[in-house]
Amino acid sequence: VRIRDRQELFEEACRIAVEHGGFTAAWIGRLDEPAGLLLPLAESGPPTTDSGFGGPGDPAPGLAPQGVAEIALREKRPAFDNAIGDAPGVAGPGHAPDTLAVRRAAFELGAQSVIALPLIVEGQTFGILTLYAPERNFFDDEELKQLTELASDISFGLEFIAKEEKVDYLAYYDPLTGLPNRTLFFDRLTHQLGAAGRDGLKVVLVVMDMDRFRQINDTFGRQAGDVLIAATAQRLGATLRDQDSVARIGADNFAIAVTGAWQTLDAAHFVEERLAQIFGQTFLLGKEELRVSVTAGVAVFPGDAGDAEKLFANAEAALKKAKAGGERFLFYGPEMNARIAESLRLENRLRQALQNGEMVLWYQPKVSVTTRRLCGFEALMRWNDPESGLVPPAKFIPLMEQTGLILEAGRWALSQVARDCRLWTASGVAPPRIAVNVSPIQLRQKDFVATVVNAAHETEEAGSTLDLEITESVIMDNVEAIIPILQTVRGLGVQIAVDDFGTGYSSLAYIARLPIQDLKIDRSFVVGMTQNQDSLAIVRSVISLAHSLRLKVVAEGVESEEQAALLLELGCDEMQGFLISRPTPSGLVPDLIRQLQRATRDEPAGKRSAGTRKRKEGD
Ligand code: C2E
Ligand code: CA
Ligand code: CA
Repeated sequence: VRIRDRQELFEEACRIAVEHGGFTAAWIGRLDEPAGLLLPLAESGPPTTDSGFGGPGDPAPGLAPQGVAEIALREKRPAFDNAIGDAPGVAGPGHAPDTLAVRRAAFELGAQSVIALPLIVEGQTFGILTLYAPERNFFDDEELKQLTELASDISFGLEFIAKEEKVDYLAYYDPLTGLPNRTLFFDRLTHQLGAAGRDGLKVVLVVMDMDRFRQINDTFGRQAGDVLIAATAQRLGATLRDQDSVARIGADNFAIAVTGAWQTLDAAHFVEERLAQIFGQTFLLGKEELRVSVTAGVAVFPGDAGDAEKLFANAEAALKKAKAGGERFLFYGPEMNARIAESLRLENRLRQALQNGEMVLWYQPKVSVTTRRLCGFEALMRWNDPESGLVPPAKFIPLMEQTGLILEAGRWALSQVARDCRLWTASGVAPPRIAVNVSPIQLRQKDFVATVVNAAHETEEAGSTLDLEITESVIMDNVEAIIPILQTVRGLGVQIAVDDFGTGYSSLAYIARLPIQDLKIDRSFVVGMTQNQDSLAIVRSVISLAHSLRLKVVAEGVESEEQAALLLELGCDEMQGFLISRPTPSGLVPDLIRQLQRATRDEPAGKRSAGTRKRKEGD
């Protein structure tokens, strides 16, 4: 009973029964619910591999109805058969109709009697101890009394082990939520930091404090408070992957630690998103729907601290500061908070900008490589910021994508094309097709198709045709979902170009299936083309691939006649770049169209010297 390990306890019990108790064989089996099989756990006695009564490694014997094992398990009392050793197949009075296997085993062992003793732990039958005796009628009252005691000793040992485990559990887990407690969390965090350090990854540690928890407890009662804590724990756990840690570190405090290749702002958005995901929905307390919020402090490994203890202390310091300042969350590193504040400020300004109509579209022509005839325009967004002047999209599109503002901006761009076209038509020029860049986030919207349908109609009424440019990586990430969307859009006469082609990892099989018309070769290859063989080889193969799929190829970022000549030689269809024109504000587009038309009329292709006049972007 002093053994602290279940398996050892079983093995010792069997060994003692055979070596000191004079039994032929002994084994312990655990009841495997719901299959109703006895799983052998330990045995002692003659080799049992062929004996068929089941020992570790043997298939689990089924429970014969009315057999000793079955009776012991079902009725929680010892059951014996004092004449089991009679030859198998011999049935008669005095035998339990046991399994043939058990009786054959007993026969082969030379055993005459068998007993099954239930092992009961906390009122539940855990399994049975089976003992074989060499004599007939071995089990009498006296023997029965002793063996019952033996079985209860084993039960006692098992109960003790179970209690110890519970104490261990309480030392490391929070019983209300089943989450690790502070102690275990530290342990896990230490391991997590070690692994992240080895892989060159970062760990974001977030400690959270529920707002107004005491008030909730006072108003709705402690039990309701417990329900809330458990529900929060459950939501927290559900959002995390296996390699991340979560814990309840205090009455209304939780912590999560998430490993990743975090960039500064990613981490902030992660925290924001998670908090919104977990606390954005109300909690149901009985019939009461309750909105709950938390304040959080965040520290990032290894920047803020190199070990679990310091990291934790820093996250808690950040939490304290956040509570004092009434912030939803704060990072430990001040430069981090500054950056978040800056991006928040920019977000607000962008929101304002959209409302105040500070966005504009500039247009850059695409021309035929052979004739330099105007084929279309690409619309490129600019922000006419009253504070700092013209802002290029690289400065604001990423933030718009992170914050969802891109949806409004994207809708605006699609509709602005028609407005600009009407102005150009009014000034007497016929606008070519116009392509608008589409962000992945727009594509995921349910109303994306409807928005495009609308814009396509408006553009048509304004005398032009709408096209779309979609970045390669985006299409490939989600190709099955995107194909039907593109097909619908395509049905409207809208042409689709795969933008930045060559930077993603397109599968040729997919490219062939996509309802697209153009591949736009990324500027980096066009730049590299005249300098290194690899880029040249890529451009050449993209062109021949596209042509074999009957797609048109547009080269981006063409700046020199040398590049244009090379593209002509390679058979590229269209080009776009500073060589032809910089992106141009809407008001100057009619002039640009006229000028491009004049140039193609005046100069036949091929005899061109300095190219058409270049326009300067106004920033
Ligand atoms: P993009 O779609 O690849 O657009 C081409 C970019 O290359 C434009 O930058 C353009 O000004 C620039 N470019 C064109 N020719 C040349 C050249 O010869 N040399 C050089 N160095 N650059 C050239 P821009 O206008 O700054 O736009 C950057 C990116 O912002 C775009 O890349 C596009 O991904 C995104 N963007 C622009 N407008 C929108 C929009 O309305 N919606 C969305 N979702 N994204 C947009
Ligand atoms: Ca583009
Ligand atoms: Ca591009």
